[in-house]
Amino acid sequence: MSDFKTLDDLDAKGKTCLVRVDLNVPMTEGKITDTTRIERILPTLHELLEKGAKVVLLAHFGRPNGKVEPKMSLKPVVPALAHALGMPVAFATDSVGPIAREAVAGLVPGEVILLENTRFHPCEEKNNPPHAKDLAQLGDVFINDAFSAAHRAHASTEGLTHYLPSYAGRTMQAELEALSSGLGNPAHPVMAIVGGAKVSSKLELLQNLMTSVDMLVIGGGMANTFLAAKGMDVGNSLCEHDLAETARHIMASAAENKCEIILPVDALAAKAFKAHAEHRVADVNDIQSDEMMLDAGPATIAIVKAKLDTAKTLVWNGPFGAFEMKPFDSATMAIAQHAANLTQKGQLTSVAGGGDTVAALNLAGVRDTFTYVSTAGGAFLEWMEGKPLPGVRALEK
Ligand code: AMP
Repeated sequence: MSDFKTLDDLDAKGKTCLVRVDLNVPMTEGKITDTTRIERILPTLHELLEKGAKVVLLAHFGRPNGKVEPKMSLKPVVPALAHALGMPVAFATDSVGPIAREAVAGLVPGEVILLENTRFHPCEEKNNPPHAKDLAQLGDVFINDAFSAAHRAHASTEGLTHYLPSYAGRTMQAELEALSSGLGNPAHPVMAIVGGAKVSSKLELLQNLMTSVDMLVIGGGMANTFLAAKGMDVGNSLCEHDLAETARHIMASAAENKCEIILPVDALAAKAFKAHAEHRVADVNDIQSDEMMLDAGPATIAIVKAKLDTAKTLVWNGPFGAFEMKPFDSATMAIAQHAANLTQKGQLTSVAGGGDTVAALNLAGVRDTFTYVSTAGGAFLEWMEGKPLPGVRALEK
């Protein structure tokens, strides 16, 4: 049983349901280049429509900063949405006011309408109560199916919940249940992998994980900062030398929290930052002044794999190396494949997320084998940082 309200708690028949969805699809020259986000909202929409609800979709597109920006209209999304749903989708050129009210009033049960970009109104992002109230007037209940926007307290994600009975949509529900098995109430031992470029962008993440996981693997460019803080010469590697003290503090607190920190012991070292750059496998104690550590080496891969064999849960954000350039994707690929195998055997619950991580797991071909891969960038990271997400909190029972 979830501790938030879902569609199981709602009798949708005949009700006008305001459904917040993520339609912030990638678009080039007016054409949608990836329809994943549209596909993800279909379960909720089909279910509501089959139950005889009137469905009113609220969504944002881009960052129009509270102004009407024709380039950020949601209208071009309508044909793709209608195609995916297999039925016509109406459109209203405003998300509140008389245009929206009139359009919604014309709906009959089993019909769906998309309202224009909620962020064309400055009050949306300010979460202004009168604005949320105006939105609320359009419907009987509110359903949030946009986890990716749940870290923002906006009128269409949080404000509405103060005026209407509110529920998690099926996609939101799946995301919350998956995340809860990752960090909310995970099976121990839990391993977290944090990689990527910089320690500075992931400080809060490291601090939170240290208190909740048993093993913390630090990879990627950020590992260099930790190695340097331990007195090693990282040569020309990406490194935030000014964060040495912070890194030492993190390692000390981890020890206090009985969280084992695992750092690379070897690397692929190269003199040029480019694909197929000449490189060698080097011990992290043996990096030359003109060399960069661009990926973890084979000994590190073996250690992480062996530790992973002892884990029951994995939470992952950030690659082990500059994975966009071959062969510096090798550690990320090898460890992703190992985690996928363990998941397939039923030994591991694997949850991963964040922009670059999703791209890396796609490259490794394991996106569908992991227990859950979250495409919500900011919201996933804030969840990993242990922050309450306002749009989720508002759905709690
Ligand atoms: P982030 O957005 O913080 O997850 O960082 C991801 C980026 O970190 C990717 O573009 C990687 O190419 C980069 N990265 C990972 N490891 C390294 C490394 N050892 N040296 C330089 N860049 C790296």
